[in-house]
Amino acid sequence: MTDSVMPTYGLRDIAFDRGEGVYLIDTAGRRFLDCGSGIAVTSVGHAHPHLVQALKAQAEKVWHTSNLYEIPGQKQAAKRLTDNSFADLVFFCNSGAEANEAMIKIIRKGMAAKGHPEKHHIITIEGAFHGRTLGTLAAGNNPKHLEGFGPKVEGFDHVPFGNLNALRDAIGPLTAGVIIEPVQGEGGIRAMDIEYIKGVRAACDEFGIFMGVDEVQCGMGRTGKLFAYDWSGINPDVMALAKGLGGGFPVGACLATSEAAAGMVAGTHGSTFGGNPLAAAAVNAVLDILLEDGFLEEVKRKAKIFRDGLEALAQRHPEEITEVRGMGLMLGARVQRPNGEVVAACRDEGLLTVPAGDNVVRFLPPLIITEDEISEVLGAFDRALTASAKAA
Ligand SMILES: *Cc1c(COP(=O)(O)O)cnc(C)c1O
Repeated sequence: MTDSVMPTYGLRDIAFDRGEGVYLIDTAGRRFLDCGSGIAVTSVGHAHPHLVQALKAQAEKVWHTSNLYEIPGQKQAAKRLTDNSFADLVFFCNSGAEANEAMIKIIRKGMAAKGHPEKHHIITIEGAFHGRTLGTLAAGNNPKHLEGFGPKVEGFDHVPFGNLNALRDAIGPLTAGVIIEPVQGEGGIRAMDIEYIKGVRAACDEFGIFMGVDEVQCGMGRTGKLFAYDWSGINPDVMALAKGLGGGFPVGACLATSEAAAGMVAGTHGSTFGGNPLAAAAVNAVLDILLEDGFLEEVKRKAKIFRDGLEALAQRHPEEITEVRGMGLMLGARVQRPNGEVVAACRDEGLLTVPAGDNVVRFLPPLIITEDEISEVLGAFDRALTASAKAA
C-alpha cells in the first residue's frame, strides 16, 4: 500500500496492535517493553482499566459540546490541577505546542494588563523545545526546525543553558518573562539545577516579569513529584502541560496565577476542542491515579532503582555509555555511538526507547512500571549495548 501520510516522521516500519501496561504488542505478535510511552504520554501504561472505564463511560454520555457551555468534568479537572499546584486558573487546549502558545499569550497579555503592553519579549533557554507552531518554533530557536518556514516570530531572546548571569543580562525594558523547561526533554534529558531555577525565580521577581515553566514532558508525575518545579520549592506564574496529562488522550493545559492571567478575559483566547468532555474524563482518570496516596512515592522509589541500574550498566559498558542523567522516570543515557543505532539495537532486544538531543537515549517508562519490569528493561539494554558494540 502506498503511504499517503506526509513523510514528516521518517521511516516508520513497525505498527502496534495493542498494549498492556508497559508492553506493546506489534501486528506480528511481538512483545515490546515500552520505555518511550508515546514520548512521555501513556504515563499510566497502555489500556489501564481505570482510564478505559472512564473514557467508555463518558463516550456513552456525550463526547463534545464546545466551550460555549459549561463542562462539569473540565471544571473538576481544573479545580484538581489548581488545588495541587501554584495556579489559580487553567485553560485547556489539545497539545503541548498549544499549551505553550497559551503561556506566551498569557505572559504578554499579563504585562499589557499591568500597563506595559510594550513588554512582550520572552527569554528562552538554549536546547529548549516548546513545539512546532510558528510561535513555539521561535521560542525554541532550533535552526533545523525554523529553516524554510519564513520569518521567525519576533520577541524571543535566547540564553545559554544554566547560565544565570547571561539570563539576568538578557532582561531588558521589553522583557515580559522567562520560560524554562525544568528538565529539558528533546534537548537531551538535561535537568536544571535547583539553585538555577531559584535564581530564575529571583530574577523574575526583581525585574517584575513572569516566570513560565514548560512541563509538557517533565510534569504530571514524571520526575517523582506531580510537577518538576516542586523540587525547587519555588512557584512559577504560568505552566504548560500536555503529554502525560491525558494518559494518551490528546489534551493540553496552561495553568496560571490570577495575576498572570489578569488579561485573559472573555474573548481573548479560545479553543473549539480544548478540555471537551472526553478529554476532561481522561485528565480526571489520570489524576485519580497520580494523586492516590503513595503513588508518587513509588515513582521515586522505582526511579532510584532504574537509575542505579543504568549507572551500573554505564560501569559495565564504559565505551558505550558516557553519562547517565535525568530525574525520576525521565532518564537518559548519553552514548558513544550514534544514539539512533543504540535505539535500533534496543528495539531488536524488544525494548522501545526514544532518541534525544546531545546523543542521548531516553527512557520514559510508564510510571506504573514494576521492579521486575525495570530488571527486564535493564537486561534488554545490557544485551543491546553488547550487540551494538559487537556490530561496530
Ligand atoms: C513535546 C513537547 C512540546 C510539544 O508538544 P506537542 O503536543 O507535540 O505540541 C512542548 N514542550 C515540551 C517540553 C515537549 O516535550
